[in-house]
Amino acid sequence: MTLTLYNTLTRRVEPFAPLAPSPARVTLYTCGPTVWNYAHIGNFRTFLFEDLLRRYLAYSGYDVFHIMNLTDVDDRTIKAAQAAGKRLEEHTAPFVQAFFEDRDYLRITPAHVYPRATESVPAMVRLVERLLERGVAYKGEDGSIYFAIAKFSTYGRLSRLDTRELKVGARVASDEYAKDDPRDFALWKRAEPADEQVGAAWDAPFGRGRPGWHLECSAMSLEQIGKCCRTETLDIHAGGVDLIFPHHEDEIAQSEAGTGKPFARFWLHGEFLNVRGTKMSKRFGNFLTARDLRDQGVDAAAVRLLFWQTHYRKALDFTDEALAAAGAGVKRLGEFYERVKRETGNPKGLPDGRGKRDGRLAELAAKFEVDFRAALDDDLNAPRACAALFELVHEGNAALDAGAPGAALALGVLDRAMQVLDVMPSAKTVDTELAQWIEGRIAARDKARKSKDFREADRIRAELTARGVEIEDTPSGTTWRLV
Ligand SMILES: [Zn+2]
Repeated sequence: MTLTLYNTLTRRVEPFAPLAPSPARVTLYTCGPTVWNYAHIGNFRTFLFEDLLRRYLAYSGYDVFHIMNLTDVDDRTIKAAQAAGKRLEEHTAPFVQAFFEDRDYLRITPAHVYPRATESVPAMVRLVERLLERGVAYKGEDGSIYFAIAKFSTYGRLSRLDTRELKVGARVASDEYAKDDPRDFALWKRAEPADEQVGAAWDAPFGRGRPGWHLECSAMSLEQIGKCCRTETLDIHAGGVDLIFPHHEDEIAQSEAGTGKPFARFWLHGEFLNVRGTKMSKRFGNFLTARDLRDQGVDAAAVRLLFWQTHYRKALDFTDEALAAAGAGVKRLGEFYERVKRETGNPKGLPDGRGKRDGRLAELAAKFEVDFRAALDDDLNAPRACAALFELVHEGNAALDAGAPGAALALGVLDRAMQVLDVMPSAKTVDTELAQWIEGRIAARDKARKSKDFREADRIRAELTARGVEIEDTPSGTTWRLV
């Protein structure tokens, strides 16, 4: 099996191979957050899908170079900074910081570079100059520079524009515009007083102004892959489905008209997250951020598992019930993992020789690994990979009950799968005072058991349970954990 991915450009699931086969390097660009506010969990669904992609590429043996931009200047950031009465960087800095914190909370692997739009303006100016020289860009009477979509014959290939009317010469200045209204779009917007007020204007040979959002991603991705890998073609470009038009369509037009080379070979798009049936959006008021979840004590492992259980190309309904079910799932997984880990010191099954020494656990683990790979090779079918994982938990527990050996192999398989899914429950932090109290109670219980005072031992166990401490008696002593 080889990795296959659904390519929005061709509307087909295609075998994936990178442009540079040796060394097997993959260049990956993912559109990053617009740091005008906190990113909501709908944004993080996209970033998590990209994390799955990145991790599975690495698991499959590729050397991934991952670029994620930070949009710290665009229509929205300027408006928000102006409303807050702040300079642009003063307004965006805390949201950049918050984004990194949320990323770490959700266990998202950091990109190799996070270029910021405001720090990449020279590359944007160079790209606009190139487009002007090639005659695909022009200055409008408002002083802004526009891309002439009629001059780029394949415009609309990604979003299948053929069914829509191309309005030659009609222009749009705003970063976001309607799906059914393709027009010449702004590459560089002439500086307005509001831009100057927040510090969002730069000098350029074609007039003082600021970049359009679409231009930013083209210039930053080309600059970064040029630096790292001396290429002008990305292996994979990913983002949310809402970016297909106009954002990604415009990125293709600007980049390909500028370089004369294909911009990205694979285009991957993640579907929306719905909260109680409504697309999560700041506009609709059902806004939930990653930090809201963190502040409520939600384990990131549960969020990840919940997201993996729906394919990235299907809309996902986010409900409290679904999140609680995912939480129960990661707990079950964590318990199985701990059990397997304890058994690794016991390669021949249970010490008293009870149970079959039939290698059943090893067989189950090996079968799981095959199923896991087959599922993810099939356009990142994480729901199927998770189903296989929980089958291993279920059947593996039964095999362990029967004393089957093979725990060391199973542990290795689980560790490898977690490099991709990363859904083991977070260890609960215990303060030293509590730990000392627990150890003291366990010692008292041991003493009671030794003197055959089982009533006292049971009473202590109940006392521990009441404080959320679960204990287990093993041949090497009593272990405990918080539940
Ligand atoms: Zn972008």
